[in-house]
Amino acid sequence: MKKYALLASALFTLLPQISIAWGGLGHRLIARIAERHITPRTQANLDRYLDHSIVEYSTWMDEFRTSPGYEMTTWWHMGTIDENGEPCGTIRPNGDGDALPQLINAVERLKDGKWRELSDSTVNVNIKYIIHIISDMHCPAHIFFSDLPGGRENRYGWFRLNYNGKTEAYHGLWDGKSLSDVHPEWKGDIDIFRDNFDTFTDDERRALSAGTPTDWMRDCGQSCHVIYDWAKPGDSIDARFFVEHKELAQSQIVKAAYRLARTLNELFDN
Ligand SMILES: [Zn+2]
Repeated sequence: MKKYALLASALFTLLPQISIAWGGLGHRLIARIAERHITPRTQANLDRYLDHSIVEYSTWMDEFRTSPGYEMTTWWHMGTIDENGEPCGTIRPNGDGDALPQLINAVERLKDGKWRELSDSTVNVNIKYIIHIISDMHCPAHIFFSDLPGGRENRYGWFRLNYNGKTEAYHGLWDGKSLSDVHPEWKGDIDIFRDNFDTFTDDERRALSAGTPTDWMRDCGQSCHVIYDWAKPGDSIDARFFVEHKELAQSQIVKAAYRLARTLNELFDN
């Protein structure tokens, strides 16, 4: 019990470091691309529960993560990969699990038309969970890799390095710089990003969105582990780092968007 209390208190000190994954731009972009691929019937059913585009709800979980009644969602923004490369959503002391189990729970609550039997507020909040969690689990720094050395800090990239002459957390750079610093000329315009990222054929889109949420989490683990080969504590890097590795951020954005669109269509195109 004492050990748990110490651990909980150590974890609590980490909370102020938690930022908005993908810097808000990524969340909005993923929802914007997904929006292009949801069916008219899905959109009509979403409109019964949302007052605005799904883009406007894409960062809601970040804004409400510490609000009364939503404290339990603090851990839902990150995925976990165990030593064997398998998704394991309950490995950290996070109560009822993190991104993957909570995504599965939200889908389960709504699927097979069950949303028709639920209150408007229940459907609304579960849609917001789905929009944000699919997005967050695709952010390269939002995966806790159990096999990384260095204890809790390094396992999801909270180590410090030098970026453009300033000391920054590696995790935070992937959250905030991995898109915006690669394409500064696009000035954060999500429609320009969307038009340049959403270039796949229907067949490619179907292939990228195939599988289950567990498959997606495993795929994210396999794709993103490499970021810990690319940078180490104390390294000095600058914007060229994210230009050099831009394919990862771009492919994670596109996969998240197509998987989100497929999930919403399967739930609401009925
Ligand atoms: Zn988040």
